[in-house]
Amino acid sequence: MSAHHEPHEAYGAHDAHASALDSSLGAVLRLVAAGEATTRSEIARVTGLARSTVSQRVDALRGGRLVVEGRPVRSTGGRPPIALSLDPRAGAVLAADLGATHCRLAVADLSGIVLGEQAKALDIAQGPDVVLSWLRIQFAEMLAATGRPAAEVRAVGIGVPGPVEFSTGTVVRPPIMPGWDAACIPGHFAEHYDAPVLVDNDVNIMALGEASARDTARELLLFIKIGTGIGCGIISRGTVHRGADGAAGDIGHIGIRDADHVPCRCGNVGCIEAVASGSALVRELAEAGLDARTSQDVVSLALKGNPIAARSVRVAAARIGEVVAALVNFHNPSTIVVGGALAPLRDDLLAGIRAVVYRRATPLATRALTIEASRLGERAGVVGAIQLAHQHVFSPPGLHQLLSRRPVAGRNSQGRS
Ligand SMILES: [Zn+2]
Repeated sequence: MSAHHEPHEAYGAHDAHASALDSSLGAVLRLVAAGEATTRSEIARVTGLARSTVSQRVDALRGGRLVVEGRPVRSTGGRPPIALSLDPRAGAVLAADLGATHCRLAVADLSGIVLGEQAKALDIAQGPDVVLSWLRIQFAEMLAATGRPAAEVRAVGIGVPGPVEFSTGTVVRPPIMPGWDAACIPGHFAEHYDAPVLVDNDVNIMALGEASARDTARELLLFIKIGTGIGCGIISRGTVHRGADGAAGDIGHIGIRDADHVPCRCGNVGCIEAVASGSALVRELAEAGLDARTSQDVVSLALKGNPIAARSVRVAAARIGEVVAALVNFHNPSTIVVGGALAPLRDDLLAGIRAVVYRRATPLATRALTIEASRLGERAGVVGAIQLAHQHVFSPPGLHQLLSRRPVAGRNSQGRS
């Protein structure tokens, strides 16, 4: 037995060493890609790594054609340091935020610069085969338009409006995506890109996008989406907290007071989503005789000052505030971002939520709490999908894949011709 034991341990130690190496490689690449540290000495200062270690990591990244040396940086004396930058051919990521009736797609480089982005109409109910074939064509056209070959795609990030098993990218019993149950999304891209496809639900990627638009790398951010339904994305130290089964943040079915008479689509009664979501407000206003069919109708009626709509929004905000106050007591987030289709009502919505949260949550939990509107609006999801792809590329397994990839045939011949 011991004969088996020893090599196994040695392999484990090697693995841990490789992982530490890759994580410092990732840190160095991330700094160079973002332009936050561009010389070896700056990198050493920011990361705390020894100069010799930094040089080794930079050599590995140059060898992997991820980083290039530029001109010497002007200096006050001695040998001028050499500026490092991301190799323009280091790669690109593809991103898609798929909604029920529309989507937003993007191509970005590894430094986060968006090379191309577009919003399009989409009918998710056409099912995975139709929608994902269409998406592949869109991606191919966008890559062609930005001059990036498919071989340079390093990761694909996709958000969908339903529950996803993140480890496999499989949609699980989605309420508003007919035909998608058990659809394994990465499989639809396997033949087209030699790159991993990361799939998550839309609320999680919106949360990731909003976190990337703030200086909250070390903080806890909750993104509350108030649209047709109500959901929450949880970002802890820059990454999505998905829970044991990927269901974390599904706050729409938390029961609230005095709503036991209202049935919810989940089969229960008194859920927050059944009384305070966009669809709940649409139903309420329609019953009151107003012309409201979508969340956008609710928004425009309230913005026009319709008293019934304004009152409904105020009541909904207070009820959402009750749930958010409980989340604040439980989770002690530093930032809460409110987005989704009802977000244009930011003043009424935020004021209502804040009033309840500051009254009901504990003083310590609210002392430094920020509750604010989405900064990215309709772009939150696609920005988050880019982040999701980047996080994979810069992770130890992602970097390992990147550095062990084969040279792309055709690139050199293209260069020579
Ligand atoms: Zn429910």
